[in-house]
Amino acid sequence: MLNINEIREDFPILNKRVYDKQLVYLDNAATTQKPRQVVEKIENGYYNVNANVHRGVHFLSQEATEAHEEARRTVQHFLHARSSNEIIFTRGTTEAINLVASSFTEGCMQAGDEVIISTMEHHSNIVPWQLEAARKGIAIKVIPINDRGELDMEAYRALFSERTRLVSVTHVSNVLGTINPVKEIIAEAHSREVPVLIDGAQSVPHIAVDVQDLDADFYTFSAHKIYGPTGMGVLYGKEAWLDRLPPYQGGGEMIATVTFEKTVFNELPYKFEAGTPDYIGSTALAEALDYVSAIGIDKIAAYEHELLTYATQRLKEIDGMRLFGEAEQKSSVISFLVGDIHHYDMGMLLDRLGIAVRTGHHCAQPLMQRFGIEGTVRASFAFYNTKEEIDALAEGIERVRKMF
Ligand code: PMP
Repeated sequence: MLNINEIREDFPILNKRVYDKQLVYLDNAATTQKPRQVVEKIENGYYNVNANVHRGVHFLSQEATEAHEEARRTVQHFLHARSSNEIIFTRGTTEAINLVASSFTEGCMQAGDEVIISTMEHHSNIVPWQLEAARKGIAIKVIPINDRGELDMEAYRALFSERTRLVSVTHVSNVLGTINPVKEIIAEAHSREVPVLIDGAQSVPHIAVDVQDLDADFYTFSAHKIYGPTGMGVLYGKEAWLDRLPPYQGGGEMIATVTFEKTVFNELPYKFEAGTPDYIGSTALAEALDYVSAIGIDKIAAYEHELLTYATQRLKEIDGMRLFGEAEQKSSVISFLVGDIHHYDMGMLLDRLGIAVRTGHHCAQPLMQRFGIEGTVRASFAFYNTKEEIDALAEGIERVRKMF
């Protein structure tokens, strides 16, 4: 069992009052709150360990470099990667996917080659491929979903052709909460010698991820969704693939030697990290991962599942409730609409009660089109949320419903 009261003490913002009401923060899929330990790590980094990394002979630079590289090893162990060379620091999931889209298309695709994505992708796993489609003429195929919000695996298998070069799908949907069978997805692709990129933005904070067990070729996540800092993220890539791909950006750090005629690129992981990295952000991310590990990701998953089950049951009792995403395997996200109340009105009125939820298309407009809606209200839970907060949400929705 988790001691939620004790955990909440690490997150001072959870005590905040909004409109003179106790804040109920249920927008964790957008970003999570930060524990003191993470904020203190940032403060200590700037006060005591700040120097540019990798290039300095002086004490402080070496200390900063060691902290940054230690953070990389923490990420490596958290994802169960084989080597820290396979961990590339990025600005977030978005940049990580753009990196793969750009470098993979450049290095491994020709006009007419195909990438498979799914109906439930976040825009950040759609638009980068469209940019490549415009630039290089690649084609995008889309896996359909059923009404519960699960991938149609038969249709997935039928999408492969001899032009398929990559599969890029999300592990967990940020709208539906669906946990996709990524191990099976990867095995299917590998049986056709096609590599797979998994968007882990919504999985890494909530369920145990072992990239070697999954056999993922690329895997991404964002620090800010796992109690870490903003502007920091990770691309995991198998060394063999990263070695094969051309760099994404050019500049300092990513080179071995430069003349005006020719540049020899640096070894992994630096080949993909042009410019001064966010060496404070990386150590804060590592602190967040240590925080999560100390609680235990399996305990977190079990508790959040309990919250999801409770919330689903409470919300289903409300007249006119429509839930979007009722997959068998689901993470702690609930998207809904009530009667014909506009999602924006619901969100705004819940906000007045101190309840923070997200409204709109959640950067997944094609998914909204699949369900024939413009948007939903989304409540998403973290391990610091409580059943009392879910009660507040259910009572809040009921109040808004009665107003209409
Ligand atoms: N993919 C998914 C599934 C997401 O939920 C998000 C964030 N909402 C992203 C990608 C993009 O993450 P970021 O904005 O941190 O780059």
